Parts: sequence; structure tokens; C-alpha cells
Amino acid sequence: MSLDTSSVVAWLTDFASVIHDNADLLTDLDREIGDGDHGSNMDRGMKAVAELESASFPTAADYLKKIGMTLVSTVGGASGPLYGTFFLRVGTAWGDAASAEDLGKALRAGLDGILARGKAEVGDKTMVDALTPALAAYDEHASEGIEAALNAAALACAAGRDATIPLVARKGRASYLGERSAGHQDPGATSVTFLIEAAARSLA
Ligand SMILES: [Mg+2]
Repeated sequence: MSLDTSSVVAWLTDFASVIHDNADLLTDLDREIGDGDHGSNMDRGMKAVAELESASFPTAADYLKKIGMTLVSTVGGASGPLYGTFFLRVGTAWGDAASAEDLGKALRAGLDGILARGKAEVGDKTMVDALTPALAAYDEHASEGIEAALNAAALACAAGRDATIPLVARKGRASYLGERSAGHQDPGATSVTFLIEAAARSLA
């Protein structure tokens, strides 16, 4: 089995729907420690992704790269380049994603892109705090297949998201708040958990 364009469409359609339903939550979280636009920005970007003609792309990899470019050009703030880079790198590393190991390598390439672009480390109170343990859990369970690996990744992602609450932000706009950023859940860690949870539902 390999993950084709229709698998990616299922993943991104699920993610777009969850982003739309939770746009107010993401915006509220961002209002607490940022500039209050994460929900509306992500919703705008995912609507643009939903309008792409998936059938016009020769491969799933081409489609993923176009998703990345679309997010770069439609999502504002820091999230556009970070989510855009994630999908560009995932697309570049996708191949035919025939095995759990292949998918893990593609997701890992996406995280590496975010790290290169955002320069955040674990503990800075960003999306990296959720995605890093998610991919570690994925790798731990990759030998059990895509479904088990993605389910483990989704649980670890949510735990990483929750663990951002007590942290003091060291990156992005939230870092301007210093100690006052503690006690708030990071909006980027929240949206990236929706992304991995959507993958677990749709790619498994
Ligand atoms: Mg913002």
C-alpha cells in the first residue's frame, strides 16, 4: 500500500474542517499570548488549500509541495512560513510513502524544515514542543505500521501541546510577555496537534 493523492486530500480535508471548527479557540489562545490571528490565518490558508484541484497534480508529492506554497502565500504571521515549509519538505521527502518508515521520514523532514526556519528548540513554547515528541513516538511505533505509529504520534503530540502551558515563551511574539506567557497553551502547538490527529484519522 502507498499513500496517494487521495490520502493526502483526506488528511488535509479533515485538518481544514477541524481548523475551521476551532478557529475561535486558536484565535483566543493567540490573543492571550500573541496577536490573536492564528485561527483566522490558518482558516484562510486551509480554505485556499481546499480550493486546489488535487487531480491536476501528477503525484502526491507535487500536491503536498503546492499545499506548502499555498500556505506560505495565504497564512500570515509566523505560521505561514512554518506550515508552508513543513509541507514543502514533507512533499520533497514523500516518495510514494509506501511504508510507515517512509511516512515517518517525510514527517521528520517537515519538522526539520520547521526547525531550520523557526530556529526554535524544545522548551521554547512553540509547535516544536508538540511535533518533536509526536515524531519520536511515531518512530518508536513505526514497526507496528502506519496506524499504530500515527495513533502514538497523536497522543504524544497532545501531551506535548499540554506541556506548553506552564512554559515561559522564548520564541515569537509570546516571548515579549516573559514570565506572563506561562499558564497559557501555545496556539501553534495546538494547531499542529490538530494536524497530527487528522493524520491519525485519515492516513491510517
Ligand atoms: Mg498570531
